[in-house]
Amino acid sequence: MVGPTDTAAVMIAVAARLRRELSPAQVLTDPAELLCYSYDASFESMLNPRRPDVVVLPAATADVARTVAVAAQHRVPVTARGASTGQAGGALPVHGGIVLDMSRLDQVVELDAENLQVIVQPGIVHADLNAFLARHGLIFPPDPGSSRMCTVGGMVANNSRGMRALKYGSTGDYVLGLEVVLASGEVITTGSLGSRALQSSSGLELTRLFVGSEGLLGVITQLRLKVIPVPPAKGMVMALFDELEQTGRSVVATLRAGILPSAIEILDSSAIQAVNLYRPQIRLPSAEAILLYEVDGNPPSIAHDAERIAQVVGLFASRVEWSTEPKRVAALWEARSVVGAASGQVRPGAARVYAGEDICVPLARVPEALRTIQETARRNDLTVVTYGHIATGNLHPAPVIDVANPDEVARVQLFADEIHRLARRLGGTVTGEHGVGLTRIAYMREEHGGALDVMRQLKRTLDPLGILNPGKLFGADC
Ligand SMILES: Cc1cc2nc3c(=O)[nH]c(=O)nc-3n(C[C@H](O)[C@H](O)[C@H](O)COP(=O)(O)OP(=O)(O)OC[C@H]3O[C@@H](n4cnc5c(N)ncnc54)[C@H](O)[C@@H]3O)c2cc1C
Repeated sequence: MVGPTDTAAVMIAVAARLRRELSPAQVLTDPAELLCYSYDASFESMLNPRRPDVVVLPAATADVARTVAVAAQHRVPVTARGASTGQAGGALPVHGGIVLDMSRLDQVVELDAENLQVIVQPGIVHADLNAFLARHGLIFPPDPGSSRMCTVGGMVANNSRGMRALKYGSTGDYVLGLEVVLASGEVITTGSLGSRALQSSSGLELTRLFVGSEGLLGVITQLRLKVIPVPPAKGMVMALFDELEQTGRSVVATLRAGILPSAIEILDSSAIQAVNLYRPQIRLPSAEAILLYEVDGNPPSIAHDAERIAQVVGLFASRVEWSTEPKRVAALWEARSVVGAASGQVRPGAARVYAGEDICVPLARVPEALRTIQETARRNDLTVVTYGHIATGNLHPAPVIDVANPDEVARVQLFADEIHRLARRLGGTVTGEHGVGLTRIAYMREEHGGALDVMRQLKRTLDPLGILNPGKLFGADC
């Protein structure tokens, strides 16, 4: 990597060369434009924006390959960026250099409906892909809360999950193959050249290696994704609880009854309050916690499953209602879909920040985690709203703070550290779906032990110059 004294000169030369080899309009160096690329959704970037030196807007794989090859020759960092909805600072160019804005590579290349797959460019927005697929009766099932903003390339790079991970798994479960630009600028295809098979045992699983690699091992330029038929109907069960402990028990009892809901979401009392302030017409009843169970499938099966869940959960909850009537189902689900946006409402003039926002704990420890989150918030004198994907133990505490108050900022950082350590103490992980990025590097050694060294060896093998998204996962040490 270039040193600080000659960085500016090198970056001017790199920008000039990229303008010649791509086109002038695809290379941005205006400070005002670069500023827009200094942030993602993380609290970290709000506190410490990281400005790139150059932004490249590729229009084809060849542009990405050229850019990475030029970066390798000049040994300057390259950070891929989708829609920058990441909450962990993953797309921030920590050491400056080039940001590759992948959002213009947003086309469906081919729908192969007969073979249940679609080939897309990485910059396509998740909701746009599903709107396209819906016209053909198909769906790409991973379902992050950021669906209307995030790119599919970003989802694969972060191995995103979301509300329906219990039944449908992670984004990675739907990736059949990838086109990737390596750190040398070479382009490879994983998942068997020209294959339209839905599974393969051929060779090492390179596709899986790039899934969740957060832009550290290569830049994804095309994706072959598995799709499934859209489930024709949905049902919902809403259960109110007076005791947090009963929420975990009711989830286990549901699964043991042989039912696999498409989602089970929890709102604690603070999240219920937030939803009611944000959308008073939803009128959620007050409770220690609410669980929302979603079932999907054919109409007779969803009615059976919703009724059965209501029976099982009724043993633990103070009140249960269920419906398969589309309007009521949508109304019940609205409470969950607005909770992220609603969080900021619990404290006028304050903002919700993403810090310690993505722990994942064993199912049996969810009530303990929820209680400790509340207690940790009280001890640090913070307002924190908590909700999450209870069936996978993935909890999203949402601190709501005055970001202009340095004392509160310091307290929220302490809170986030305590929450990350809580997750590990309870036998979980510091991130269930948002990734490591910049904000969780400190926990990697404790979480992975010697496996972190193997990850570093892989990184050095695929990116010997350390130009791809440097400063992440291993910190400065790579
Ligand atoms: C309101 C809100 C709700 C959210 N809900 C969820 C949720 O339910 N589940 C969930 O999992 N996440 C969620 N997220 C987090 C985030 O939206 C996801 O991680 C998303 O997949 C990131 O996509 P992106 O396009 O914004 O990627 P970015 O933030 O731009 O990038 C994320 C990472 O991917 C890398 N990257 C991006 N594109 C490429 C590429 N083409 N090749 C290689 N690397 C690349 C970047 O370098 C970076 O490390 C949420 C975020 C917000 C703001």
